[in-house]
Amino acid sequence: MDALSDLRSLDGADVVVVGGGFGGLSTACYLAGAGADVTLLEKNEQLGGRASRLEVDGFRFDMGPSWYLMPDVFERFFGYFGREPGDYYDLTRLDPHYRIFFKDGDRVDMVPDLERNREVFESYEPGAGERFDDYLEKSKINYEVGMEHFVYEDRTSIREFLDWDVAKNARGLSLIGSMQGHVEKYFDHPKLQQIMQYTLVFLGGAPTNTPALYNLMSHVDFNMGVYYPEDGLGGVVDGVVALGEELGVDFRTDAPVTEIRGREGAFVVRTEGDAEFYADYVVSDADYRHTEMELLPPEKRQYDEEYWESRTYAPSAFLLYLGVEGDVDPLEHHTLVLPTDWDEHFERIFDDPAWPEDPAYYLCVPSETDDDVAPEGHSNLFALVPIAAGLEDTPELRAEFRDLVLDDIAANTGVELRDRIVVEESFCVNDFADRYNSTKGTALGLAHTLRQTALFRPPHHSAEVDGMFFTGSFTTPGIGVPMCLISGELTAEAMAERAD
Ligand SMILES: Cc1cc2nc3c(=O)[nH]c(=O)nc-3n(C[C@H](O)[C@H](O)[C@H](O)COP(=O)(O)OP(=O)(O)OC[C@H]3O[C@@H](n4cnc5c(N)ncnc54)[C@H](O)[C@@H]3O)c2cc1C
Repeated sequence: MDALSDLRSLDGADVVVVGGGFGGLSTACYLAGAGADVTLLEKNEQLGGRASRLEVDGFRFDMGPSWYLMPDVFERFFGYFGREPGDYYDLTRLDPHYRIFFKDGDRVDMVPDLERNREVFESYEPGAGERFDDYLEKSKINYEVGMEHFVYEDRTSIREFLDWDVAKNARGLSLIGSMQGHVEKYFDHPKLQQIMQYTLVFLGGAPTNTPALYNLMSHVDFNMGVYYPEDGLGGVVDGVVALGEELGVDFRTDAPVTEIRGREGAFVVRTEGDAEFYADYVVSDADYRHTEMELLPPEKRQYDEEYWESRTYAPSAFLLYLGVEGDVDPLEHHTLVLPTDWDEHFERIFDDPAWPEDPAYYLCVPSETDDDVAPEGHSNLFALVPIAAGLEDTPELRAEFRDLVLDDIAANTGVELRDRIVVEESFCVNDFADRYNSTKGTALGLAHTLRQTALFRPPHHSAEVDGMFFTGSFTTPGIGVPMCLISGELTAEAMAERAD
């Protein structure tokens, strides 16, 4: 792989990786591939982090990510090790990519065939079909320039960020300005604006607080496609873990780290039960705030509580995992249910935190594509409603919201689930905090606002502890499974530079 610098300086180094999410798994693979001795310590009973799996009575749920986007990133990751994704899992391109139920009774499918999507756009607004092409053309350029210059390259200073060469290459990139402003330039119809903006939920932002650069997500969505990996996103975790084992990573689960002491060449990492691990370098994939405020001694922290309080957190989520009898037509594998005016929902996430009364949400039905995720004659689905991080989460509030969501699904999709539910589990703010040590129970980490993008995210290398590194969604490039895989690459590069 061309852009990744030489990692040979890490040969023989002892490294402890804290946390087995995609960021930690990826970093561990790059380091072990370079010849380092890597031990990965994961708090929970399984690897994958937010991409954990829940298995109940023959139903298998992906608990977190369910959209396999940016196949090129997975190819690059496995390709670095002389493998390809197909060595570990097969991919099915979904058709439709997703279905949207608007709450005014309208329904629309976005499909792999761009001509059909163009017709849908034109049917809402004369001229929108042509502007759909222009929009995608621009988002393709943004994707190519953005990935090369801002995602795979870690620009850690303002000087580098504003580097003239990059500025030349980035000509036409919409770096400032919001997604809302960008989309409005192309489409007047609110539904078309929503179709172009729903992907922001993946980045944990709202149209008004996410930089316009992220219109590159439409290239990801429409041009590159939406896929289902064999065995779901859990199958991808299995693939990366299998690769790590081939490379010699020592994976330990049920190993919550309680303390990190020392410095480069002399770290001691302690786990519950007082086991001690010695390392030259430590990499934490656990949430950044948890690592700094709860694992490192106070004098070794780069940020104080005030800093963490002042951040904009991506949403938490209310999740309902349901095993139901019979089918759930007309729900598709990926289904979005959107109020025609969703400003209020975003306000309740970012401006005025409260449980939404008219939620925008996502339904995932993998049993539409995969027979193995539910017993015969049953469907497997989950509902995901983004809600504000830090929201009060009690059994009573959850029960009330569960009823609201089930009513909303029935009213807007026609699918009545209540009398057919045979398995039901919920997951919400408190569970994110307990299971993953997540700050304020955020599902995703730091939102991609302009103030928290690129070099404005916390760094990979600690400024206070030589040899202490961070990876995963709190760092660059950011949120999402592909970004966390890339984060592993950037972290390994930063470590190799230091070890040189
Ligand atoms: C509901 C949901 C839906 C999502 N949907 C998508 C999607 O469709 N597509 C997509 O690409 N992305 C999606 N994402 C985002 C994506 O899952 C995350 O960005 C990514 O998986 C985060 O990986 P990570 O490496 O940053 O950290 P994590 O996955 O959070 O891993 C961190 C790990 O550290 C462990 N840990 C914490 N503290 C300690 C400790 N003290 N000792 C040891 N271990 C510790 C945690 O248990 C955890 O396993 C979704 C996320 C959620 C929650």
